[in-house]
Amino acid sequence: MPYSVVPENLSSLFPDEPSYRADQLHSWLYEHPVLTADEMTNLPGQLRDQIGDNLWPFKVETEQTADDGTTVKWLFRAPDGNAIEAVLMGYPKRNTLCISSQAGCALGCTFCATGQFGFDRHLEPGEIYAQVAYATAYLASAGLPGCPDHLTNIVYMGMGEPLANYRRVRESLRRIIEVRGLGARSVTVSTVGVVPGMLALAEEPWQVTLAVSLHAADDELRSSLVPLNKRYPLAAVEAAAANYFRVKGRRVSIEWTLIDGVNDTIDQARKLAPIAERLQSHVNVIALNPTPLSPDQPSRPERIEAFMAELARLGVNGTLRHMRGQDIDAACGQLRARSEPKRGSAQRVEISRP
Ligand code: SF4
Repeated sequence: MPYSVVPENLSSLFPDEPSYRADQLHSWLYEHPVLTADEMTNLPGQLRDQIGDNLWPFKVETEQTADDGTTVKWLFRAPDGNAIEAVLMGYPKRNTLCISSQAGCALGCTFCATGQFGFDRHLEPGEIYAQVAYATAYLASAGLPGCPDHLTNIVYMGMGEPLANYRRVRESLRRIIEVRGLGARSVTVSTVGVVPGMLALAEEPWQVTLAVSLHAADDELRSSLVPLNKRYPLAAVEAAAANYFRVKGRRVSIEWTLIDGVNDTIDQARKLAPIAERLQSHVNVIALNPTPLSPDQPSRPERIEAFMAELARLGVNGTLRHMRGQDIDAACGQLRARSEPKRGSAQRVEISRP
């Protein structure tokens, strides 16, 4: 499986071939990815056959489209049976791919389908990067109607907490930015507040965007929604976000999922405002996507309006984001809602140290 091999070591796949064969393969994996080995036209047939069905580290189990064909969700299945989901969202001038970094998630945020179904394992760098390569190849061949033919943005907002899988996510970032050459500023890593990972990311050489999912602006409420808050409380998360801003000179964005009657109050907006002001952050607000194992509901329109109005009154730069792919469970927090019928219990898992 060539994506499982470190890009600089591809010659190990063809030990009896001249070195330029590895360079050719490198180009097919990282510069001009293709959907099948048969399309690697400058490789001899016997090498294409050798790669064959092993080009991807997963099988494409389902491909669903929504939003008039401009949203595509893939359910990839790894050989060990784990599901990996990625969502491609096309717009007139950009294409954004939302990728997964873990199979499941151990952090158990109450409103999130991924968290409700538990954790299976970390994804390997090749499995993370291959989602990017697959979407790139798809755009170059099938494409999305009315959208560019190439990938412009990547967000680590699919299944899993990226900074809980730090070393593998770091290697996937290296492949995206240094090997493939996508601008670091086009890549967003999201976190619910894994403070050691936030601090480590600030020391990396890349200007990636850091998005912090707050969802609540006091520790009591936040701990009830995001259990990790008991380990890394709000003040520590804010300090790590401020450090990222200071070191990188890049503002951290704040993500906020509005849950009806829970965190859509004027009181929460008033507690959020000073945090956003101190961090000079933009706040991205989205209404909750209902999930099967939680009674939580999205905020009603009048409550969303009041929340946004209060943020605006307090001078906070906020945007209400519209949901994409909700009818195929591709919206934020919905991944894995239907791909895994089992009800998992969130297992304990050690956060991979930076
Ligand atoms: S919101 Fe993110 S960190 Fe929380 S359970 Fe879902 S995937 Fe995990």
